[in-house]
Amino acid sequence: MPTGKASNFKEVQANFVAGNWVTSNKVIDNINPATGESFAKVSMASLNDLEKSVSQAQKIHESRMLYEMKPGERAAMIYRIGDALLELKQVGAQILCLESGKRLCDAEDEFDEAIRYFRYYAGMADKLEGRSIPLGAGYIDYTLNMPYGVTAHIIPWNFPLSIAARSLAPALAAANCAIVKVPELAPMTALLLGRACEMAEVPKGIVSILCGDGPQIGGALVRHPDVSQVVFTGSVAVGQQIMGVLAERVVPCITELGGKSGGIVARDANLEKVLDSVYWGIFFHSGQVCSAMSRLIVPREMQDEIIHMIEAKIDTFSVGDGIENNDITPVISETHLNGIIGSIEEGISEGARLVRGGHRLNRAGFFVAPTIFADIHTEMTVGKKEIFGPVLSLQPYDDDAEALAIANGTDYGLAAGVFTQDIDKAGWFSDRLDAGQVYVNEWYGGGVETPFGGMKMSGNGRDKGQEAIFNYVQTKNVAIRIG
Ligand code: NAD
Ligand code: MN
Repeated sequence: MPTGKASNFKEVQANFVAGNWVTSNKVIDNINPATGESFAKVSMASLNDLEKSVSQAQKIHESRMLYEMKPGERAAMIYRIGDALLELKQVGAQILCLESGKRLCDAEDEFDEAIRYFRYYAGMADKLEGRSIPLGAGYIDYTLNMPYGVTAHIIPWNFPLSIAARSLAPALAAANCAIVKVPELAPMTALLLGRACEMAEVPKGIVSILCGDGPQIGGALVRHPDVSQVVFTGSVAVGQQIMGVLAERVVPCITELGGKSGGIVARDANLEKVLDSVYWGIFFHSGQVCSAMSRLIVPREMQDEIIHMIEAKIDTFSVGDGIENNDITPVISETHLNGIIGSIEEGISEGARLVRGGHRLNRAGFFVAPTIFADIHTEMTVGKKEIFGPVLSLQPYDDDAEALAIANGTDYGLAAGVFTQDIDKAGWFSDRLDAGQVYVNEWYGGGVETPFGGMKMSGNGRDKGQEAIFNYVQTKNVAIRIG
């Protein structure tokens, strides 16, 4: 097991195909967003690798090996994957930092979160109990939680390890096999899950991890006749396409898509808490978070004071390489950077007031200046479209009903927040916000234990928490006539 310099970590530049590391002639550069330079080459999986992965997984499913394993043993196996990730954390966090641009401390946190998923869902593997249903004299009736078989997991680049872990762990707990399609822009950390499965002695073929082209390998995966359940995390456009394919195949799909989430600042809010959430909500990982707080909905007469406070906070931010834990780190790619700048220009042309930033930083790598727009009106796209960068839009309101209408006024429904010291107000808004999660006084409240997912165009189904396990089982009812 090579350790030390992350760039020497050759193994995860291959694909983990049914338990074997397979290289290919077709390689892509893994770019470090802080420098714009390639630090490793990664093999792209072929259709043949995909076929091997799925057919081996289907064979294992048909053998009933995972389903018939004692639940406590399956739990122990999943727990060991978490243990292996803990061993891999030091070098793995460096790789994650290099390939995604995020801060090293956040890369380490991402390992901790991934480890927690394996531990949490290991704890559910031996609690997948059915029900017995009384049918009167002469019957015994019970339910079984059956696995689907081969599940597909399609992963985005912003949290490649923790998002892969959050669906892989419950899928395994429910005795499914899994093919994980990792993102081309940040593939190596998620490929490390293959190494973790080896270290945990997961029987070969239960898990395959493939880096491949989205439309080609991802597309073939969702069309594959042996794939019987899919979880997709990524953009709305690709999610819609995948759901279309799966509708024809009558295969269920969990989608975790984008967002344009708004935090409502009440007049009595503790503004220190708002400021903390502004860093975490929109400038952490340069705003490349699905549930980012990309909008702040503020009392009209307080907008200038709040802007002033945020600007003073931004003045304290360090900018630079994530490996040095700078506050502001790069965005993932040149293409993504250009998209962000395009969205900012769109906002300016719509008449949104650009208070700060709005440009690329004059340095190597893909850095965008922390950007603030103010005086957003409901009809502007800059207040509705997901930008996925360090761009905060402030929209003023006069009364609570208007604040609620603004918060709910996009096609998305991933997260929402309220900053208030009044529990009645917190409850009033929380009840009425169209969002899968509501954060009160702290953006990203909750954790591995709490269900997560979107309303409206932000997706369907829930990851995390006890809810997620039911994505990976199908109920079978057995009615027995006795006597
Ligand atoms: P993306 O949709 O471009 O790609 C996601 C994954 O899908 C990648 O692995 C990609 O290779 C694959 N893919 C692309 N085309 C495909 C196709 N035709 N068939 C099958 N697979 C295909 O998204 P991205 O740019 O990687 O991620 C950013 C988006 O993800 C943002 O919109 C963000 O909000 C969203 N996101 C949502 C959550 C959530 O939990 N709701 C979490 C993280 C990111
Ligand atoms: Mn990269």
